[in-house]
Amino acid sequence: MNELPQQVDVVIIGAGAAGLMCAAVAGQRGRSVLVLDHANKVGKKILMSGGGRCNFTNLYTAPDNYYSENPHFCKSALARYTQWDFIALVEKHGIPYHEKTLGQLFCDNKSKDIVDLLLAECRTAKAQVRTRCSIGSVQGRQGGYVVESSLGAVQCESLVIATGGLSIPTMGATGFGYDIARQYGLRITPTRAALVPFTQHKRQLERQRELPGTAIAVSASCGAGSFHEQMLFTHRGLSGPAVLQVSSLWREGETVSFDLAPDRNLADWLGGLRQDKPEAHLHTVLAGLWSKKLAAHFLAERGIESRPLKRFSAAELAEVGEKLQTWQLVPAGTEGYRTAEVTLGGVDTDAISSRTMECKSQPGLYFIGEVLDVTGWLGGYNFQWAWSSAHAAGEVV
Ligand SMILES: Cc1cc2nc3c(=O)[nH]c(=O)nc-3n(C[C@H](O)[C@H](O)[C@H](O)COP(=O)(O)OP(=O)(O)OC[C@H]3O[C@@H](n4cnc5c(N)ncnc54)[C@H](O)[C@@H]3O)c2cc1C
Repeated sequence: MNELPQQVDVVIIGAGAAGLMCAAVAGQRGRSVLVLDHANKVGKKILMSGGGRCNFTNLYTAPDNYYSENPHFCKSALARYTQWDFIALVEKHGIPYHEKTLGQLFCDNKSKDIVDLLLAECRTAKAQVRTRCSIGSVQGRQGGYVVESSLGAVQCESLVIATGGLSIPTMGATGFGYDIARQYGLRITPTRAALVPFTQHKRQLERQRELPGTAIAVSASCGAGSFHEQMLFTHRGLSGPAVLQVSSLWREGETVSFDLAPDRNLADWLGGLRQDKPEAHLHTVLAGLWSKKLAAHFLAERGIESRPLKRFSAAELAEVGEKLQTWQLVPAGTEGYRTAEVTLGGVDTDAISSRTMECKSQPGLYFIGEVLDVTGWLGGYNFQWAWSSAHAAGEVV
């Protein structure tokens, strides 16, 4: 028995951030909309995002905060539905929020507030949402599309693919969007796990065994990118915002550089302390800067023996400062899609209109959100891309 309407104007596959937003916008234009998702509930990634408080946008969102083979692609959609538009929507729904750091806006209460907002907007728009619906096939027919699913078949004029990327398969992530793109001859730019913790080799982990759970402010660099944020030692390697950010730039075998005291020049600082506090031990002043554990670790790793500062010559102390300032590391790998926040790469944007998200060679077929080759930094940028790209499509489907 067909549990779905036989025909609607718009079918959206994927009831995540982008799919629900697009449904609300299209429905509010008077289009009949059906959203289908194979998961048991909608917006699972929204629910788990931002440590349960959903970092739903960033005050400073700009095209520079995104990676893509075509860095210009995101400009139009981001300019036409901005962070201010989404903040206005959050305020319209009376959701309390705050800026945590670096323009990152989080819900005061819980991520569910954002899912509830999207579902309320969908209800107003009379958009139907069906979960636990497996998609069988998608075929073009009579200038539109037929979607075969476990709940039956439905015909539509416009088909929107909003199935996200490959990160966190246990949350329902699949490569479905890429398969549909390939079905219509579109290219997929190489995909990889991004915003993901680094793993380290066993021997290094053994040397760091006292450190899991310890955080330190660093500047992490790889290639041309540099991020001044916290780094966290874990049982498998390294995480924290600085590491997640730089992971998006890292490729196997490359070196990541950490400035372990990004706010000061350690050689100069130690030189000054040698004058002011000559009796102080090196490990004590470094424990004040980092922590006792970290100071002991970094000294041991570099084979530096601690003694009172006055027992170092000025030149020796400058050399110690230089040695302690940076840490060069070749990570063993990353934790992969299992824990990655996003997928780098995706449907090649050359094939997509940046104004409408419609496939240029396939009228009526749209791709929105993370399935596209547009990947944001950590900090609310990925949700803003979901809102902006969904809005662009929602206005025309
Ligand atoms: C742990 C975690 C925390 C994050 N925190 C933040 C944050 O705080 N701020 C931020 O900006 N970004 C964050 N992100 C990234 C953000 O969640 C994504 O970029 C965003 O959800 C992408 O939206 P989307 O709608 O394109 O895809 P998704 O939200 O992934 O939605 C895709 C939907 O498609 C469905 N689907 C997939 N395959 C199929 C199929 N074959 N058939 C039917 N349905 C299918 C899925 O079930 C899902 O509901 C986080 C991600 C993770 C994993």
